[in-house]
Amino acid sequence: MKVTEHLANAKGNTLVSFEVLPPLKGKTIESLYNHLDPLIEFKPAWINVTYHRAETMFRKRGDGSFEKVEVRKRPGTVGICAALRNHYNVDTVPHLICGGFNKQETENALVDLNFLGIDNVLVLRGDAEKNEPSFAPHAGGHGYAIDLLKQVVNLNNGIYLEEDVQNEARTNFCIGVAGYPEKHFEAPNLENDLQYLKEKVDAGADYIMTQMFFDNQKFFRFQDACRSVGIKVPIIPGLKPITTRKQLTVLPRIFHVDIPADLCKAVMQAKTDADVETVGTEWLIAQSRELKAAGVPVLHYYTLGKPRIIHNVVKATM
Ligand code: FAD
Repeated sequence: MKVTEHLANAKGNTLVSFEVLPPLKGKTIESLYNHLDPLIEFKPAWINVTYHRAETMFRKRGDGSFEKVEVRKRPGTVGICAALRNHYNVDTVPHLICGGFNKQETENALVDLNFLGIDNVLVLRGDAEKNEPSFAPHAGGHGYAIDLLKQVVNLNNGIYLEEDVQNEARTNFCIGVAGYPEKHFEAPNLENDLQYLKEKVDAGADYIMTQMFFDNQKFFRFQDACRSVGIKVPIIPGLKPITTRKQLTVLPRIFHVDIPADLCKAVMQAKTDADVETVGTEWLIAQSRELKAAGVPVLHYYTLGKPRIIHNVVKATM
């Protein structure tokens, strides 16, 4: 079932959904089931599975020289989506990215998803490779999420890349896009970012899923700003707990989000790692309760190796 159908069926009640990463190459699918098992009792409306582009690395040869190799550390997004559907009978939302793929590969991935009966995608641009100064599109690939989105919309209308494709079966994807309550880090300002977000919605995005945030007021202001520029689709808040002191510097650096002063102070005053987890859990419970009371359609949790904490948060909220 599509994300939009879940939202319509909820009739205004707040749903819960989770996001997982594919296991590192070499790990089993059971490691993912072990991660998700404690969370399934909350009957998530769907589970998102992230996509990870290949990284360029230099591997030392026997003679001491180096060879350049492409390594995908977390492959398997499409297969994992199918496996989770079979294992838990839950809908899944694969992330699709522009970075590292050409349009043909993207079309083939969409055909695979369609054959598997997966009718949701979250379309994203992806980030630059670690050794790149800024994002560069793959040869024959897309430069912005909106270009990828248009390819999915085309396929929903039976328009394939090759003009001579016979039969032209239409896909039926529900399409989500990313939004940034604290603006995307490359955008010169929030207004500019919102214009591009509106273009994605006007081009066919069915809903927006946000970057994590730790201050609900930023989400509420973003939601108002979206509505004021005519964005009418559902906006789903993305939520993540603080679980270590290190995250106070790592999260702003990687995800370009602010940590509120009160949260920062409480984490700094925590005496043990367990105390930090308690602070982060209580903060996320408070965030979740306020968002639910404000009538958000879904609470979407980035579980990222912390299922026990997410379990405690959802239990205290829903
Ligand atoms: P875009 O919408 O293309 O925007 C990128 C930047 O370009 C923005 O600054 C925007 O303002 C600007 N822009 C947009 N359109 C145009 C245009 N036409 N002309 C000029 N400027 C434009 N990354 C992964 O690799 N894998 C994942 O699974 C993944 N999941 C994510 C899930 C969520 C909910 C979020 C919020 C992010 C996720 N990301 C993921 C990270 C994401 O790929 C990065 O944040 C990336 O830098 C931007 O992606 P986007 O889809 O927002 O890009």
